[in-house]
Amino acid sequence: MGGGWIDQFADAPDVLKTRPDQKTVVQAGGVAIGGEAFVTMAGPCSVETERQLMAAAEFVVRAGARVLRGGAFKPRTSPYAFQGLGLEGLKLLAKARAATGLAVVTEVMAAADAPMVAEYADILQIGSRSMENYALLEAAARTGRPILLKRGMVASVADLMRSAQCVISYGNPQVILCERGIRTFETATRNTFDVAAIAVLSAIARLPVIADPSHAAGRRELVPPLARSAVAAGADGLIVEVHPHPDEAWSDGEQSLTFDEFKAMMADLVPWCELRTQRGCSKETVA
Ligand code: PEP
Ligand code: MN
Repeated sequence: MGGGWIDQFADAPDVLKTRPDQKTVVQAGGVAIGGEAFVTMAGPCSVETERQLMAAAEFVVRAGARVLRGGAFKPRTSPYAFQGLGLEGLKLLAKARAATGLAVVTEVMAAADAPMVAEYADILQIGSRSMENYALLEAAARTGRPILLKRGMVASVADLMRSAQCVISYGNPQVILCERGIRTFETATRNTFDVAAIAVLSAIARLPVIADPSHAAGRRELVPPLARSAVAAGADGLIVEVHPHPDEAWSDGEQSLTFDEFKAMMADLVPWCELRTQRGCSKETVA
């Protein structure tokens, strides 16, 4: 790592690598993220019904996912949109974990909810809109659960690393960084997928880096090519929206993959993931 990086990201000393091969492996519900294996997290944008969540969980685990995603608390742009099932959604996620063995990642939106979400989830997701909510970062960090920290849609790489440093400073080194697309002048996609950020973060940060091609693309047909580019750029994993009937989804249906599309994407990624493993690098595990 060149000296320039260290100066530029001096606010995030515990995020930066101190040796080129230094890597935190985050352990969540029996899944290692940032280790040798590429990890796919998949599931619906929102937990809607038991039937919907169970169908998604059972399908994605068979297709090779290790972590189930699903929002019980939803940050929606419109106050009239579906806001999530709350506690009922968390209970359904725990039920899906029991049935499939998948670990569970779900968003926490309010500091006061952090202990409750941590009771049900293996990984707490901090959403893009919350990346700089420091009270929330502290409450989530203090639960001791691994944190999936999404890049804010107008946050720089340095801003993301600063927020990760906050979580670590609150005593929780188990942080996963997530590139999910940023706002630019481009309107062909929902956000602009910053694949360079993945390359930069995997070069300089010791934390695992995953990509969310669903929120970057906003359209399901763009998700597989963006996923492939994330693997090629050095991502440790993916978080992808999958729904049994995307056209009937209560949120983000346009960007959710069907079961068949998810299965095809997972097969398509195999040779890319093999190339990634061949590159190899030694890891340091967080106790
Ligand atoms: C989500 O994962 O459904 C979500 C709302 O993501 P983001 O915070 O990246 O918009
Ligand atoms: Mn979504």
